[in-house]
Amino acid sequence: MSLIESIRHQEQALAALRRSWEAGRTPHAYLFWGPPGVGKTRAALALAQRLLCQSDPAPCGECPPCRRVARLTHPDLHLVLAGARAEEDPRRDLDAYAQEPYHCLDIPRGASIGIERVRGLKMEASKARVERGGRVIVIRDAERLTPEAAQAALKLIEEPQAGTFLVLTCEYPSHLLPTILSRCQRLRFRALPADFLAEVVRGECGLPEAEARVVAGLAQGSLSRAIELARAGAGALRDEALELFERPVGDASEAVGRAQRLGRQWDPARARLAVDLAMTWYGDLLAVRHGLGPEGLVHADRLAQLRVRAQALALPQIRRRVAALEEMLEAIEQNVNPALALEAALLRIQGLDEQQKQVDPRAAARSRRE
Ligand SMILES: [Zn+2]
Repeated sequence: MSLIESIRHQEQALAALRRSWEAGRTPHAYLFWGPPGVGKTRAALALAQRLLCQSDPAPCGECPPCRRVARLTHPDLHLVLAGARAEEDPRRDLDAYAQEPYHCLDIPRGASIGIERVRGLKMEASKARVERGGRVIVIRDAERLTPEAAQAALKLIEEPQAGTFLVLTCEYPSHLLPTILSRCQRLRFRALPADFLAEVVRGECGLPEAEARVVAGLAQGSLSRAIELARAGAGALRDEALELFERPVGDASEAVGRAQRLGRQWDPARARLAVDLAMTWYGDLLAVRHGLGPEGLVHADRLAQLRVRAQALALPQIRRRVAALEEMLEAIEQNVNPALALEAALLRIQGLDEQQKQVDPRAAARSRRE
């Protein structure tokens, strides 16, 4: 099977891709844009198969070049990913990505693509090609190019070598240089339907139906996010988060104790996920208050509980919870210890923050460090 056949629910983008290649008018620079984890990188590799395949009609998916593209070992295919350090190429992760269709590339937040990587590409592009056919350069998450690297990438696009094709991927085109945008043909990739995501996490991760629905709702159309959530045990984490934020506490010291206990078990990624889960819970509460039915709710499997809570909580109480969670996310982004960020959020949610000197988690963190 060729890679293009393995991409689901992107009919429009793939039809446009096929139209260009069947007409022999593949542009030398493409921008595939859309949410993360919807098939942009795989579509770029599908294009590489088309350009490097030795069969007719191409791509066959079976010939040695097609196989090498799928394994990411073709010498004329260059896939550039952001690394924790700008010059790092996460090769190990790439091998896993090539072997397993649902592998999520673990790109750290704040990872970037540095100038040396793009210079390396430029050198490659000036060399003779290893095999017949074209050369394909894929720069994944092009918004992570450092400013210097983006300028170098622009040069690469402006002065194309014959037979070299570039594909950039990104989430939002507006995050790229206008000069890069104007030279790339854009193809939009769309969020994947929740039903499809639920089906994949049921099959791939063995999630029960109700939990698969929750994960699919949370993933916002991204397959990689759905898999990540499923593997992080989003179902159990939801119970933990609801227990934490929804069960009333007697006083501030009880709230602090609860926050410390759970916060110590959560690394920043897990804390972020718990907050995301809680946010969708309060979003659902608002929807239920407005009389929305179970369709469209993330936590539709907990409809009875949602209805009870929607009755019990007044609008300002829901708003206060959401504001507290937003602050918690911000604090975690700023490297505040999850337990401390949680403590501040919990005190605010329970309306106990007035009793505490430090309301702001950052202020609390600062005072602990001093
Ligand atoms: Zn082939």
